[in-house]
Amino acid sequence: MAEMSLEMKEERNHLLRESVKKIASTKVAKRAAEIDAAGAFPWDMAELFAQQGYLSVMLSEGYGGMDGDITAFCIIAEEIAYACGSSSLMILAHSVGLMPLMMAGTEEQKKRFYERVAKDHALAAFALTEPEAGSDAASLNTTAVLEGDYYLLNGRKCFVTNGGAADLYTVFVTTRPGERTKGISVFMVEKETAGLTIGKREEKLGMRGSDTTDLIFENAMVPKENLIGKEGGGWEIAMMTLNLSRPAIGAQAVGIAQGAIDFVLDYTTKRVQFGQKLADFQGVQFMLADMAMQVEASRALVYKAATLLDQKVYERDRMSAIGVDKLSAMAKCFASDAAMRVTTDAVQLLGGYGYLRDYPAERMMRDAKVTQIFEGSNQIQRAVIARNLLRKA
Ligand SMILES: Cc1cc2nc3c(=O)[nH]c(=O)nc-3n(C[C@H](O)[C@H](O)[C@H](O)COP(=O)(O)OP(=O)(O)OC[C@H]3O[C@@H](n4cnc5c(N)ncnc54)[C@H](O)[C@@H]3O)c2cc1C
Repeated sequence: MAEMSLEMKEERNHLLRESVKKIASTKVAKRAAEIDAAGAFPWDMAELFAQQGYLSVMLSEGYGGMDGDITAFCIIAEEIAYACGSSSLMILAHSVGLMPLMMAGTEEQKKRFYERVAKDHALAAFALTEPEAGSDAASLNTTAVLEGDYYLLNGRKCFVTNGGAADLYTVFVTTRPGERTKGISVFMVEKETAGLTIGKREEKLGMRGSDTTDLIFENAMVPKENLIGKEGGGWEIAMMTLNLSRPAIGAQAVGIAQGAIDFVLDYTTKRVQFGQKLADFQGVQFMLADMAMQVEASRALVYKAATLLDQKVYERDRMSAIGVDKLSAMAKCFASDAAMRVTTDAVQLLGGYGYLRDYPAERMMRDAKVTQIFEGSNQIQRAVIARNLLRKA
């Protein structure tokens, strides 16, 4: 199939944004408060997103996907997050779970697993973090040992988004314990694998509809055909995945923050104190202006990083040389810090009502918080940015 021109891609992404906005406003927004209150995984949203193609956005058309790029992925993340953070997180974790396959999977693996996504609406998840290996992911100690036609996996993953809901898990293990990055390998693990159990569902501050669980491996038998890339190549795949996905976390943060701004604009033009609308006070106007500036700057950074990534620079050295890793980290870090400030100000501008569950601002603030923590905390993003800067100094 011929490559799409830049103009065609822009037009396609513009149309995609319009259609996602429509789905978000007509179908997702009305469920957001219920999803948060129930704290249960929204299967209706999963089905809706599968039907709309959001769960196969980056799969090629040959595999039943949208043939989209990172920009398209960010657009979906942003517009769904505008309406509901938990729902956008389902899409994010799923797509991140498929990225290692996208980058390093064989055609046979892609066909086998993508078919489950496109036809059976299988959900995916990304399992890197362990109880003793969070920011220091290279210290993970879930092991995989080859025995005949199977690798036997032993260990525990935690904080796995879509943990209980997913059918396919991208699991990072060590095949050479003690060798840190050099020993890490990655497997696609199917839910029905003997020896895999799903841990309890975590109760969370925000993103309460998102499903967060442990995965426990006890001599879990994973066919050797499910190794993605080569033994010892997992760390590179993990880092490239994070470079690709961080702009989308930034986009999620932008969506949540924009939702908060739009709600507050409406509220402050209606609420009257001291005989005038809140929005007529200059002190309030300055807050609104600061909120809007932060979100607009975040959006620019997110889509700049996405555009660079769309040049298909999926090699770690190249990513680093042209600064994509730095820009991805900046987009995630800046946008999530901004979303936290903006949503906190949104609560403030509603006064006491901002603190009530009757209004969406407090949910947005709770949902925004985790964007500063996952996919590498914002301290780790700053470390990535500084490392890149100092390498060139
Ligand atoms: C809701 C939710 C969903 C998640 N989803 C997933 C998922 O789908 N898959 C997955 O693999 N993981 C997931 N995570 C895990 C997440 O990526 C980790 O929580 C995160 O990387 C931080 O690790 P940690 O919690 O162990 O904190 P720690 O690493 O213990 O860090 C604690 C604090 O110390 C700081 N810190 C650590 N090291 C440094 C350093 N070198 N310099 C300065 N500060 C430092 C951190 O920034 C943080 O503030 C999720 C987490 C949450 C809360």
